[in-house]
Amino acid sequence: KSGFISIIGRPNVGKSTFLNRVIGQKIAIMSDKPQTTRNKVQGVLTLDDSQLIFIDTPGIHKPKHRLGDFMMKVAQNTLKEVDLVLFMVNAQEGYGRGEEFIIEKLQNVKTPVFLVINKIDLIHPDELLKLIESYNEKFNFAEIVPISALEGNNVEKLLEQIKEKM
Ligand code: GDP
Ligand code: MG
Repeated sequence: KSGFISIIGRPNVGKSTFLNRVIGQKIAIMSDKPQTTRNKVQGVLTLDDSQLIFIDTPGIHKPKHRLGDFMMKVAQNTLKEVDLVLFMVNAQEGYGRGEEFIIEKLQNVKTPVFLVINKIDLIHPDELLKLIESYNEKFNFAEIVPISALEGNNVEKLLEQIKEKM
């Protein structure tokens, strides 16, 4: 089994921390070379029975300056080319305009989307439940997975759920 996974989310939600943890544990290839203009391989995780290829999809966040429709379409099409999208959010921040913007862009993407709620080490479980409820109202996520990329909580579980989608 192998598959391409795009990790999207606002800056500082923990995308790099997650990748470093995942790729760092099970030794793999890290590449800084741009693969295509659209997709850049950030890391390849080789497991016994599968290979997960993590892809950077630039441009799926609310731009400071208005991006042209064309650029936004390119970014959205990139999401259609992968097997799974991980939309990572910061558990401390709640649902805001930036998250809303990304969810709008996901509406016509048929690829399954996991909501990855990161930094759960920083919040109370009750807050997490409220956050999950509010996200459930906004989008039909294939999975909602709370993790701490920093401490490693639930990261293995997330990898299992990713593998199931490949
Ligand atoms: P990116 O911009 O989405 O790639 O975010 P980074 O991976 O660079 O992380 C931004 C900051 O959040 C860094 O200071 C990380 O150490 C911190 N961070 C990432 N994941 C976690 C987490 O699970 N818990 C906590 N407490 N901090 C985290
Ligand atoms: Mg980063």
